[in-house]
Amino acid sequence: MSRITLARRPSGAPVPDDFKLVTEARPEPAEGEVLIEVTHLSLDPYMRGRMDDAKSYAPSVDIGGTMTGQGVGRVIASKADGFTKGDMVTGMTGWASHACLPASELHKLDGTLPPSTALGVLGMPGLTGWVGLHRFGQPKAGETLVVAAATGPVGSMVGQLAKAVGLRTVAIAGGPEKCALATDTFGFDAAIDHRAHDDARSLRKTIAEAAPDGVDIYWENVGGKVLDAVMPLMNVHGRIPVCGMIAWYGGANVEDTNQLPAMWRSILVKRLQVSGFIIFDHWDQYPAFLADVGPKVAAGEIAYLEDVAEGLENAPYAFIAMLKGGNTGKQIVKL
Ligand code: NDP
Repeated sequence: MSRITLARRPSGAPVPDDFKLVTEARPEPAEGEVLIEVTHLSLDPYMRGRMDDAKSYAPSVDIGGTMTGQGVGRVIASKADGFTKGDMVTGMTGWASHACLPASELHKLDGTLPPSTALGVLGMPGLTGWVGLHRFGQPKAGETLVVAAATGPVGSMVGQLAKAVGLRTVAIAGGPEKCALATDTFGFDAAIDHRAHDDARSLRKTIAEAAPDGVDIYWENVGGKVLDAVMPLMNVHGRIPVCGMIAWYGGANVEDTNQLPAMWRSILVKRLQVSGFIIFDHWDQYPAFLADVGPKVAAGEIAYLEDVAEGLENAPYAFIAMLKGGNTGKQIVKL
C-alpha cells in the first residue's frame, strides 16, 4: 500500500518537498476493524492547519505521520459485524491507498449517488454550509448574502441554500470562469472576481454595486482583502458566520489587514453577530442534513462541481494548487 506522509512542517505555502510518498505492506484488520481500499480522497483547506504544530481544535499531523483526510472506499476484508466485502464506506482513511478502521468510525454509503459526493456536496463541506447558514446565518427572504470561494463545496452550498430561502446572493470568486459558474451553475445573482481588484477599496465599490441594500450575511470563508472590503457594507444586525480564513492560512498575507479597531467598531456600532464555528461540533446534524439535501442533490435541485486529480502521488500537487484557487469545485483525488 502507499500513503503520503508529512515530511516536514511548511513555512508559508506548502511545497511538494513537505510531503513524502511511502510504500509498505498492507495492514490486516484486527477484530472489529474493516480494511478499505480507498477509491476517492478528499482534499480540504483545513489540512493546511494540521501541517503546523500550533495548538488548534484538532491535533497536528506528526512528522512522518500520514496526512489526515477523509476517504471513500471499498471494503476488501472485514472483521466487524455489519460490514462485508464490497461495501462502499467513508471514514478518516488519511492520504492512503488502504486503511484499517474500526467499524464504529465508518459510514456506509447507500449507492444512490456517486461515492465522491460523500466527500463534498453530501459530506463535511456540504454539512458545513447547511448547518452554518441555518444556525448562524439565520437567513430571511429579501436579505443579501455575500460569500467568497463561492464555487467551492462550502460556498456553493451556502449560496444555493440562501437563494432558495429568497435572499439576494453575491458570489466572490477567483477569475471570470469561476464567476460564470457562480451565476450559471449555482444561481448567484451576481459574481465578482476578487483577482480583478488589487485592493479592498476597489473590491468594496464593486460589492456595494452588487449589494445595493447592504449586506445582511457575510459568510466568511477567506478573510484577507474580501473581509476588509465587506465589513463596512454590513447592515445593522448583520450576521457573520466565521467558517474559514484561507487567505491567511500558513501566515500568508497577514500584512494585508490591520483593520482591527475599525472592525471591532463595526461589530459594536452595527450590532453584528460574529459566530465562529467548527463543523466537528455539529456532526449530530448529519442525518437531518442528508435527509434534507440528499434528495435535492439526486433531483438536480442542488448543483455541485468536483475537480478530480488522478493518483495518490498527485495529492500534494492538487492540495498546493487548491490553497491558491487552482481547484474548480470540490477537490477530490481518484485513486
Ligand atoms: P474550496 O474548494 O472553495 O477551496 C478554497 C478556495 O478558496 C479556492 O478555490 C479559492 O477560490 C479560495 N481562495 C484561496 N485563497 C484565497 C484568497 N487569498 N482570497 C480569496 N479566496 C481565496 O474550499 P472549501 O469549500 O472546502 O472551504 C471553504 C472555506 O471553508 C475554507 O476556508 C475552509 O477552511 C473552510 N471550512 C471550514 C469548516 C469549519 O468547520 N469551520 C469546514 C469546512 C471548510 P477562488 O479561486 O474562487 O478565490
